[in-house]
Amino acid sequence: MTISFDRYHTYMEVSDFLHACISDYPGLCVLESIGKSYEGRDIWMLEITNRSTGLASGKPAVYADGNIHAGEVTGCETVLWAINHLLKNYGKDSKITYLLDTKVFYFVPRIAVDGSEYYLTTPYMLRSSLRQWPGAFDEKPGLYPEDVDGDGKILTMRVKDPDGSWKVSDKDSRLMIRRRPNEIPRPGTVYYHLCTEGLIKDFDPDVTVNKAPEKRGLDFNRNFPTNWAVRTRQQGSGDYPFSETEMKAVADFIVSHPNIVSLMTYHTYGGYVLRPFCTMGDSAMDPKDLKIYLAAGEIAEEVTGYPCKSIFEWFTSDKSRPSVGSALEWAYETLGILSFATELWDMRGRAGVPKKPASAYLTMSGRETEDQELALLRWNDEAVNGRLFVNWRKFQHPQLGDVEIGGWEPKFGMQNPPVELLEEECQKNGLFCLDMASMAPQLALEKAVSIPLGNGLYKVEAVVKNQGYLPSHGTFSALKMNKAQTVKISICLTPETEYSPDKEGTCEAWAESNSLIAGKAQEDLGHFGGRAGGGDYKKKVSWVVRGRAGSPVAILVRSGRAGNIRQNIRL
Ligand SMILES: [Zn+2]
Repeated sequence: MTISFDRYHTYMEVSDFLHACISDYPGLCVLESIGKSYEGRDIWMLEITNRSTGLASGKPAVYADGNIHAGEVTGCETVLWAINHLLKNYGKDSKITYLLDTKVFYFVPRIAVDGSEYYLTTPYMLRSSLRQWPGAFDEKPGLYPEDVDGDGKILTMRVKDPDGSWKVSDKDSRLMIRRRPNEIPRPGTVYYHLCTEGLIKDFDPDVTVNKAPEKRGLDFNRNFPTNWAVRTRQQGSGDYPFSETEMKAVADFIVSHPNIVSLMTYHTYGGYVLRPFCTMGDSAMDPKDLKIYLAAGEIAEEVTGYPCKSIFEWFTSDKSRPSVGSALEWAYETLGILSFATELWDMRGRAGVPKKPASAYLTMSGRETEDQELALLRWNDEAVNGRLFVNWRKFQHPQLGDVEIGGWEPKFGMQNPPVELLEEECQKNGLFCLDMASMAPQLALEKAVSIPLGNGLYKVEAVVKNQGYLPSHGTFSALKMNKAQTVKISICLTPETEYSPDKEGTCEAWAESNSLIAGKAQEDLGHFGGRAGGGDYKKKVSWVVRGRAGSPVAILVRSGRAGNIRQNIRL
């Protein structure tokens, strides 16, 4: 199994790599199709854990996906990088070995399998699905993106017009800047209209050319039930929550894996690790969860170099109309999973442009915008030989006549890193998955002993503890919503002698010779705190058993998110 991150991978290549993983590392991974896409492609999920140390379902889990948005293909590559890194380093790197022995990772590298293929193999951009929405498409008048000059790219067109809103910057002839409000026509100054490279349906030179409506307007990441809204309020939301087969598949997988403690969904672009809330400020968050998010965010920033920010606090410029219905909202607000969404790739950051909250962009002056654009062009010239900006070149447009086509490379420039910068992007962001797993709750048996009391009686004592940072319920919102199973301990007086993963967590029938004199066969220990708080992290349980010396007894501990334990002792 080999993969290199010097290119973006097609569906077949991703699929071949995942199949190679299971044949090369059969003891560490399992591949599962969690569902089919609109066009019938499998959506793959690769589970990674050391199965000889216990079933995946009995270990705390990190779920990570990529490419819920078709064009954000760096997300998929980052997940593939994490998969490759974990498998190649198991048994070599002590942190990875520990994590795969005690935790499980569920990786879904590419969700929008149809859309990503379309994005990678045609000049077109696409948000999510190839399904036409809302409804069968009846072509309306307007401009449709097309690779008119046949160079394989859909760039920007500039069309000369004395009434245009744009002109060429004095500082760099590639840069288009806005015409000032008081700027009357000046001899020698050329004004332009800017629009996407494309063709116009029902073109009429006497009326304004507008962008045609989106033929495939679905946005998978607005199709989740939490805060979901109809399309007149939230663009792309779909007919109803989970109306899209891809989203239903993701949801079914997450809900049927109650051991998932934390979730990461990889997007592009911007250079941020995003966290909840989407529709409320930090003051509405449980203060203990906010503390966890701030602490985890600090680690995210150390590892990735990207700041961790609340979507509502930082990215929502109109606080009365936040974007709704995302995977992140559903995972944290409805399931109580510690969730993040990383916006990979930060071209502005590379160019030295400082980060600002979304609201600051609304009030940015024309001069400031020009300075930022100039910084981007400078970085492009110095770092990648100017390759990401296509210089304006004359073209005879079949409808508009003389135009020029050029501008920023939209796919592998703005939206995704150029290939030479892909691997480092994947690496620093993929590594944060390991830290997410390291924060998970983790139950352990500190002590499991049998003390003879005489007359065939034994006191069996067990001390259970949570060694993790997070409490056994993960977030505090999960505790409030009762979304994480409590910790239960049971004693088995005739355990199977051979460990059988299929029977993990089950107790065989009682033997007649051994009997429980005091204590409960099964006891609910409630939840355990962690280093992040949440109360007692260590609890003691004892039983009195009548039995034969040397006969086996097993202690089983089961939980939702903190893992299962099984230990055999002898009376
Ligand atoms: Zn996205």
